[in-house]
Formats: sequence, C-alpha cells, structure tokens
Amino acid sequence: MSSLNNVHKCVIIGSGPAGWTAAIYAARAQLEPVVYTGVPKQDPGPMLPGGQLMLTTEVENYPGFEDGVMGPEMMEKFRKQAERFGTRVVEEDVNRCDFTTKPFTLHTDGGEVKAHSIIIATGAVANWMGLPNEMRLAMTGGGVSACAVCDGALPAFRGQPLAVVGGGDTAMEEGTYLTKFASTVYVIHRRDSLRASKIMQQRYMDRPNAKVLFNKRVVDVLGGEKIEAVLLEDTVTGEQSRLDVKGLFIAIGHTPSTRFLKDSGMELNEAGYVALHSRGSKTNIAGVFAAGDVADFEYRQAVTAAGMGCQAALDCERWLAANNVH
Ligand code: NAP
Repeated sequence: MSSLNNVHKCVIIGSGPAGWTAAIYAARAQLEPVVYTGVPKQDPGPMLPGGQLMLTTEVENYPGFEDGVMGPEMMEKFRKQAERFGTRVVEEDVNRCDFTTKPFTLHTDGGEVKAHSIIIATGAVANWMGLPNEMRLAMTGGGVSACAVCDGALPAFRGQPLAVVGGGDTAMEEGTYLTKFASTVYVIHRRDSLRASKIMQQRYMDRPNAKVLFNKRVVDVLGGEKIEAVLLEDTVTGEQSRLDVKGLFIAIGHTPSTRFLKDSGMELNEAGYVALHSRGSKTNIAGVFAAGDVADFEYRQAVTAAGMGCQAALDCERWLAANNVH
C-alpha cells in the first residue's frame, strides 16, 4: 500500500527499460523519483511489471552484455541500479490519471497520489487474435499461449507438433525457442513473405524441425479441454484445412498500455500510443513525459526504450527547474 501523502517531484509509471532508465537519471538528478511498477495479472492489467523483457529469454543486442543476458535478469539489474540512487519502488498499478489538477493526481491501487511531473513508461502488451476458442483454451491451460518463452517448456508441449502465428521477429524468436522442445514447429503466416529480420528468419530456418506455412490464416482452435488442432484458411484460395498441433503460440504484435490514460486528456495516436510532441519525450500535457514502447511503435527495442527513458528524465528535470519545483 502506498501511504504517500506528500507531492512527489517525479512519478514514473512503468518498470521496463524506459522506466528504470528514467528512474536512474531522475534519481541522480535528485528528483526523488517514485516508480509504480504495476502488479502481475493473468488478464494483463494496465501495466506489465518489468515490461516485455520479463517474457523473453536471452537478449543479445543490448550493448555492454557481450555474452548476452536474460531479459528478467537485465531488468533486475536496471531496478537495482535505480534503487542504488534512491528510487522508491511501489508495486501497484496506476489505474487512472487526472492531468487537470496541479499537481497531477494519480489513482493507484493504494489510493490517490500527487505529482508535479510524470513519466509514462508503461510499454505495450502482446495481442490476442480473437478466435472463438482462443481465450477459453488460453485461460484454462488448454495449450494456447501468447508467450512461448513462459510456457513452451511445459511437459505437455515436449515432443509434440506446435504452431506459432505471426511473421515478425517475435514469431521467429518464439518458433526458434520452441524447436528445442517440439517435434515440429509450424510458423503460420497470413502473407507470402515474413516481416521478421533476416537474421531471425535464418536462425529459425536453420533448425531441422522448423517449418513455415505461408498464406494461411488461423480461423479457430479445435479441442475440448486441450487443443488438438488449428483450423486454417488459405488466404489465396479460401480453402480450409486442419493442422494437428498440441500448442498454439500467438505472436502477432502488441498493444500499448494506455488504457489508464482514458479520459485523461493525454493525446494518443490512432493506434493508441502516446503521441510525442516535437523532439524528445514531451506529450501534449506540460509536465507529463513519455518513453519507450508506450510511445514508440517503430523501434521497440530495449536499448531505444532505455534511451527514451533517459531523454524523458532530462526533459522532466529541465521542466521542473523551469517551473521552480525544487
Ligand atoms: P510485428 O513486427 O508487428 O509483427 C507482427 C506479425 O504478426 C506480422 O507478421 C503480422 O502480419 C502478424 N499479424 C498481426 N496481426 C495478425 C492477425 N490478426 N492474424 C495473423 N497475423 C497477424 O510484431 P513483433 O514480431 O512482435 O515485433 C515487434 C517489434 O519487436 C519489432 O520491431 C521486432 O523487430 C522487435 N523484436 C525484436 C526481437 C529481437 O531482436 N530479439 C524479438 C522480438 C521482437 P503482417 O506481416 O502481414 O503484418
């Protein structure tokens, strides 16, 4: 519970690479930042604690880790670094923001919190397809998942045929990971070419039990308590077919975690991402900044999110100084 009755100089919402980097910079600038991490939920709540890196395995492209680093371990290091400089961490969701008050008001699990400035770094969460039987089987452990790295090693999937939907880097990464356990992995993609980077495609294709089915749309998941097959439709001929699999992993992109900004006056783009104004991290509300995947639908990398977190903290520090908040 937060018993925070005073007004904070800087509240950071979100605890991925953007949030922790903003916290490191804000703490070293003596803004006494408070990070709201969010709480883990099955139905993703407004925030995903630790961000998307909590759902990944090895990160090989973050500079400074020449041998790679596991996503959750990297976030733990970020958090410790932020805490070393005095960042206060509150493991609660922020459910609603009111930017019409000065200072701003945040409605959290623990009550109302006031802040002179806010950095939004809530990231984005994985999308589901909306198939008739998708959620039923996902929620009951029936073999449908949006995270191969979280669930792929389960005994039910070992030595079995598994499917991944999507054609981006996530689909390649999840497919490659699953080839360690599955008899065969089928990446099912709705077009005739993959969106994924060449290196990720190659890594997947190099596995002997990796296959790609092009021009196929998944129209439903078949099975009672457990998935038995997916029903496919050819996007060219319209022909339907059945593919027997014991697991379906959805890897079709992400949705920004901005639900808690509804009716707050925060300007979002048509896809729901926070709209940034000019260069840097400024939003349409003076004193509210954004960083990372919540505002970035293009790069979406740990290192770019961290860079944006740094920008947000510097912008925030300058704004507080210009507005005589010390
Ligand atoms: P993405 O690049 O947006 O790809 C989403 C894929 O899902 C696309 O191929 C898309 O098809 C397909 N798709 C979307 N909606 C669908 C639907 N309803 N039914 C069927 N297919 C659907 O998302 P991502 O793969 O999650 O990657 C996001 C970002 O993270 C990218 O910038 C990526 O490079 C990065 N990333 C990097 C790594 C890494 O370097 N280790 C790992 C994972 C992700 P279309 O192609 O037809 O649009």
